[in-house]
Amino acid sequence: MIGGGQLARMCAGPAAELGITLAVLAEAPDASAALVTPFAPVGDYTDVEVVREFAAACDVVTFDHEHVPAEVLEALDRDGVVMHPRPEALTYAQDKLAMRRRLTELGLPCPRWAVATTESQARSFGDQVGWPIVAKTPRGGYDGKGVRMAQSADELADWFDLAREKGEPLLLEERVPFTRELAVLIARSPSGQAAAWPVVETVQTDGICTEVLAPAPDLAPETAELATLIGLELAGALQITGVFAVELFDTARGPLINELAMRPHNSGHWSMDGAVTGQFEQHLRAVLDLPLGSPRARAPFTVMANVLGGEYEDLYPAYRHLMARDPELKVHLYGKSVRPGRKIGHVNLSGDDLADLRERASHAADYLQGVVTE
Ligand code: ADP
Repeated sequence: MIGGGQLARMCAGPAAELGITLAVLAEAPDASAALVTPFAPVGDYTDVEVVREFAAACDVVTFDHEHVPAEVLEALDRDGVVMHPRPEALTYAQDKLAMRRRLTELGLPCPRWAVATTESQARSFGDQVGWPIVAKTPRGGYDGKGVRMAQSADELADWFDLAREKGEPLLLEERVPFTRELAVLIARSPSGQAAAWPVVETVQTDGICTEVLAPAPDLAPETAELATLIGLELAGALQITGVFAVELFDTARGPLINELAMRPHNSGHWSMDGAVTGQFEQHLRAVLDLPLGSPRARAPFTVMANVLGGEYEDLYPAYRHLMARDPELKVHLYGKSVRPGRKIGHVNLSGDDLADLRERASHAADYLQGVVTE
């Protein structure tokens, strides 16, 4: 796996259980996955030679993130390295403009969008779809960075200056009047077998996902079906391999696609404890072209709450109180240093009373963050 973040780390448990040797190309010796993986050479994933040497020792190469440059992927391809997902599929997670173009070609439901290099183009788009509009840098955004809501074209002047400097246009989108955000998580193997987990609701705070409700409560069956079909259609059309996520807006016009992540995803962390097969085990099965496991939910609801960096550097002392207070709680920490707002872990709780699960999960996350002390 290229990249030693928490997604790679969470593959380590299932890999050990299945007796699969997981190697990680880590950013640093103390990267999240390097701390739990015996074979974790440190190297720069943008350096072709470093990545080639790492890949030469692997039967299959997969990714913890989407940032490996296209030229590195092409070099691996020329070497005959087996990669899942394939570089063509990764493009759609690296470049939001390429993603919008492809989804539109496929006739899949998206927000209305346009490409712009000037304020006057933004003005005419905004006048057409209504203000405010949402501007996005096609590459390099995450957790809401690279996304700006604009009331007028003037508010994008600095972004257009930068865009023209880089020679890269901006993606403009109508501001979708969504009622909530949904995600559908799919696994697809190179042989073409696919499996979909139940559609979930993702709750965002300040552009960061803080909570996931699985399945999305009170979701109209036709919306759930349509969202799942969108995911399966994409899996086949883009020949995606491994686990991937489609983020959607739930609207009166039906689900609209926001973006794609070509890897296991935060919206699937609930599945580690809440589904027969968790996303990390499934990702390994998919990229190794093994038969996929059942994605069925084990309980009526599972709630995942993200733990963000807060007051405490060392979270272990919180365990005694949390575990005594709620023996059903499942805590997952990533071994990452604590920085305010950084995702450093999550908790899962399964059961049948959604409101109660949400209250207990958010209490646990708050306690780990030092927001509450009892
Ligand atoms: P990132 O790649 O940084 O996660 P996203 O494209 O997912 O960025 O956008 C971050 C958040 O901004 C979304 O979760 C959503 O809340 C909001 N957003 C993005 N696009 C739109 C849109 N077209 N209309 C309304 N809100 C949007």
